Amino acid sequence: MRCLVLILISCLALAAKPPVYVMLWFDTEDYIHPAADDAALRIAQELEQRGVRATFKIVGEKARVLEKRRRYDVIRALSHHDIGYHSNYHSVQPTPALYLKDMGWLEGAAEFQRREQPGVEDIRRVFGVLPSCYGQPGSSWGPQTYPALLRMGIPVYLDEASQVGLDDQTFWFGGMLNVFHMGRYTIRPDLDDTSRLASTLERFDRTVEELQTRGGGVISTYFHPTEFVTAKFWDAVNFIHGANPERGEWRLPPMRAQEDSEKRFRITLQYVEHARKMEGVKFITARELPQLYKSADVGAADRARLAAHLAMRQTFLILDGVSFSAADTLLVLLGMESRYVDGPSENGRTTYSGAEIQRSAFEQAKAGSVAFIRSTGRLPAEVWIGSQTLALTDFAATVAGDNGSSASVSLRKGNPEMEKYIATDPARPFNWIIHPEGFEAGHLLDLARLQAWTLKPALLR
Ligand SMILES: [Zn+2]
Repeated sequence: MRCLVLILISCLALAAKPPVYVMLWFDTEDYIHPAADDAALRIAQELEQRGVRATFKIVGEKARVLEKRRRYDVIRALSHHDIGYHSNYHSVQPTPALYLKDMGWLEGAAEFQRREQPGVEDIRRVFGVLPSCYGQPGSSWGPQTYPALLRMGIPVYLDEASQVGLDDQTFWFGGMLNVFHMGRYTIRPDLDDTSRLASTLERFDRTVEELQTRGGGVISTYFHPTEFVTAKFWDAVNFIHGANPERGEWRLPPMRAQEDSEKRFRITLQYVEHARKMEGVKFITARELPQLYKSADVGAADRARLAAHLAMRQTFLILDGVSFSAADTLLVLLGMESRYVDGPSENGRTTYSGAEIQRSAFEQAKAGSVAFIRSTGRLPAEVWIGSQTLALTDFAATVAGDNGSSASVSLRKGNPEMEKYIATDPARPFNWIIHPEGFEAGHLLDLARLQAWTLKPALLR
């Protein structure tokens, strides 16, 4: 009897272990060296034999090249996995951050869509599916890509860079579910050195335990099929520091020695086998990801607690198991229906000079902001009080601090704490060998700070 109880208890303990998901993804981008096609084929097949599905983020030109080379074997093998998108041309100049860097919110989104929609359509034509996710080439990230991706039907942002992040785990930003800036939860075995695999596997085990103690989470692991067979990146030998040779002048990257390649496949598969056998660990694809997380929509909310929070600081909040972005909270306080809206398109200013606002003028300002949000799908940069303005953060703090009945409303200064999740260095996050030397994109980070209104942790179901 005692034995039975013990078995029951240990079963419950096992069942209660929070899930740890491994997102295994391959940036499938080298459309120059044909050996990269074979590498992608081999990885896809080896993983399939082991019952593991990965996400292959494919470059539009790579899909077209596979078709031209009649590599239907590669296309078929990749199709057994999940198919994401990794830009139309990857490293041909200008790359996304380069052409977006001085563009505004709306024109940048339109320009990204104009350039990238054909690649998405080619992926759909060649692989028969809409890509499940997108991730930028290199660190060529821009916030204007998010509304464009949503319009193209892509709900997940999957990549690794440092422009925006939240506690090294999955988050909502720009209306998309992001596996991005995963920091200590990015685990990649060193393909150069077999002797380091054991310590990577130990780190994997410790990370799984740690995630289990914090309620589950995601480990991000990525490679490029080309790095298994070529000794230099296909784009570094052609498009370095802004170079843009004609197609006829593209050079092949040098190949790795056969035994070096074999070692790389072996290390990767040993890592996968290790993860696959571990209790409570599951491989997931970008397509499955949204099903694992609570939807971005917020439900019933404790209005008073949301108001107390937003009056003090404009940032996300987890309340009774629901994740609220600063924008979600503002919509609740304005009495609006729950929906996703973008942050403002630009920085607003406060010109209002008084310390108090008459009730009727303030109610008109609120009604005006609701009308703007309903018609544009984004927050206003500033809100008019007669002929003067309140910047959005000041307006939000004032709405949150208002008791709703006094004859006048006290103006409150905003405190946009959410901005601390956006990088501030205009150069380092965009450091990529393909960008021109000295490339900086501070304006993209300014736009990202405005979109921090949409930032919030993604909570597992
Ligand atoms: Zn890439």
